[in-house]
Amino acid sequence: MSFKKSDSTFCTNVKAKLEKIAQSTIYNLLLVLIVSWAVVSMMNIIVANQIIHRIRNESLDYELFREMKISSKLIEDVLSEDDNPYNKSNYYDSYDMLTLYSLVYNYDTLNFKKINKRNSDLILRSLVYDETFRELKKYYQSTFKDIETFPVLQTSDEEANVTFTDTWYAPRSYGGDRRHEGTDILDKDNARGRLKIVSMTDGVVEKKGWLEMGGYRIGIRSESGTYFYYAHLDSYNDDIKVGDRISAGDFLGYMGDSGYGPEGTKGEFDVHLHLGIYIDSKIGEIAVNPYYILDYLQNKALSQVTGQNIEIR
Ligand SMILES: [Zn+2]
Repeated sequence: MSFKKSDSTFCTNVKAKLEKIAQSTIYNLLLVLIVSWAVVSMMNIIVANQIIHRIRNESLDYELFREMKISSKLIEDVLSEDDNPYNKSNYYDSYDMLTLYSLVYNYDTLNFKKINKRNSDLILRSLVYDETFRELKKYYQSTFKDIETFPVLQTSDEEANVTFTDTWYAPRSYGGDRRHEGTDILDKDNARGRLKIVSMTDGVVEKKGWLEMGGYRIGIRSESGTYFYYAHLDSYNDDIKVGDRISAGDFLGYMGDSGYGPEGTKGEFDVHLHLGIYIDSKIGEIAVNPYYILDYLQNKALSQVTGQNIEIR
């Protein structure tokens, strides 16, 4: 009997000890979790403050800004700003987020990683009244606010009728050494008068006619004051004249290869649309790189005409 009794006492003791160990293990684990959480939070706050400090002490880098290396995801957010209920329920809008990411990633968000909400709120709270932040946000608004449509009509019977690459600042020599300040959208068939050019925005026709460099060109001033320049057309939509108010998607003329000579010169280069976007800034009117915007818009246009979902990067 006594053997059993001592056995049961022994068991109780072991059980109690094990419980104690388990309890202290749980406590230790909790402690480790709390300490790690505190350390991670502190690190986040330190990193956020470093970012805030850096941005506050830098002035706007116009050259990097003009390259417009913006991920499709951020472009999608700003272009759907008006009809995105998510944006309305948040204190910060898509332009704040675009400006934030642009500054955090030094004007290149092509491979950006999302910042957690607590940190982005912390950074935004400190920066929304910062001069550089506000200036940059304004430029993004001018650029994107009125954009709706890819400037070459995409048809359902083809995958894409055009090709284009990022040629921002590529050297050009006609008319003296200069840099390319736009995107060339080339007809895959290189056939003048085949593809329809449409307005990317609502706006007013400000220029129409021959330019030695641009050939037959049309310039549209959008509501936000941004100038959209469509060059090298083969022919115009005759119904459009200077001063007319037009809508996004309106037919402007046919793609061509006009320019680089006296009026009527054609065939000096491949058939393409030169598309330029010019915004007003503190340093005067500046061109911004349309490439990433056009890449996004073309994917969207193609997914609409072919019904395929194209991955948004
Ligand atoms: Zn060009």
